[in-house]
Amino acid sequence: MHVYSDPASERHVNHMAGVEAPERFRAALAGAEEAGRAGARVEYRPCRVAPRSALEAVHSPEYLEGLEKLSAAGGGYVDFDTALGPDSLEAAKLAAGAAVGAVESALSGAAAFAIARPPGHHSGRAYGMGFCLLNNAAIAAAYALAQGAERVAILDWDVHHGNGTQDVFYANDEALYLSVHQSPFYPGTGAAREVGEGSAKGFTVNVPLPARSREDLYAEVFAGLLLPVLSEFRPDLLVVSAGYDAHVADPLGGMRLESASFGRFAAGLASLAREVGSAPLALVLEGGYNLNALTGSVAATIKGVEEPFGTCRYSGDVTPVEASRKALAPFWESLR
Ligand SMILES: [Zn+2]
Repeated sequence: MHVYSDPASERHVNHMAGVEAPERFRAALAGAEEAGRAGARVEYRPCRVAPRSALEAVHSPEYLEGLEKLSAAGGGYVDFDTALGPDSLEAAKLAAGAAVGAVESALSGAAAFAIARPPGHHSGRAYGMGFCLLNNAAIAAAYALAQGAERVAILDWDVHHGNGTQDVFYANDEALYLSVHQSPFYPGTGAAREVGEGSAKGFTVNVPLPARSREDLYAEVFAGLLLPVLSEFRPDLLVVSAGYDAHVADPLGGMRLESASFGRFAAGLASLAREVGSAPLALVLEGGYNLNALTGSVAATIKGVEEPFGTCRYSGDVTPVEASRKALAPFWESLR
């Protein structure tokens, strides 16, 4: 596992969101160290600022110039919960660069994790919001497509719906976006009926779950929906928007996952990638606001990538999953 990071991640201060704190960076890196001590092969890599072409593949030049002007003026506000400080834009460009680095590693055969902040999945083509300035995972996916990958999937297990990533790829049939998230919840998007548009209908997969969902329900979502659709799509690369705010200890999320749950998700995705012949996983850090949970969950994820999938079937009320299955069945044979 290659871990991409840069100390600039600690210099981004969003004073509008105390929980998205600089300390998150060291807590997440401590997870990589813990995995290394437990026997996972972890190799640390520095990252470069994402190339302009990679940023512009996702964000409008006007939006990027707007951020640059705000940054040159000493900072300001991008949204009611998203502040840009003097060092924020450099940190954001390096976080996007970490995601690009993770894709380069994955495409050359090594699983990788971009451990950086600020997070990205609420940022769209011409907007930042929800603590996000640049959409790191979307930039990573677009970069892979520009490098010659024909199909790229982004799986987002952050407790919030990745509205920015969904928007960027909503009409793009080379990118499959799959999200499992708490609903109703911020940012209010991600209904089962949001499936993409035009030739990309079916290439947005949303699985909204009620608050207090546990791993058994997530397991049903993976086994019954996400993994079958991913198998059918056969991506050349799978990018994971790895947020850890669905952890039971998270102060923002209302879900009941444990650190080990993320290890099992990662293991399932890594084994699927091997089965369908896609590149190893490229993981990109999103949310996760309890520092101890963040450390434990990152450690479990890294260990999980090298472990076989532990089966965990849900038996109970499958209504939330059923709504998503029905919305997507016209587009995916494996769901019929
Ligand atoms: Zn989140």
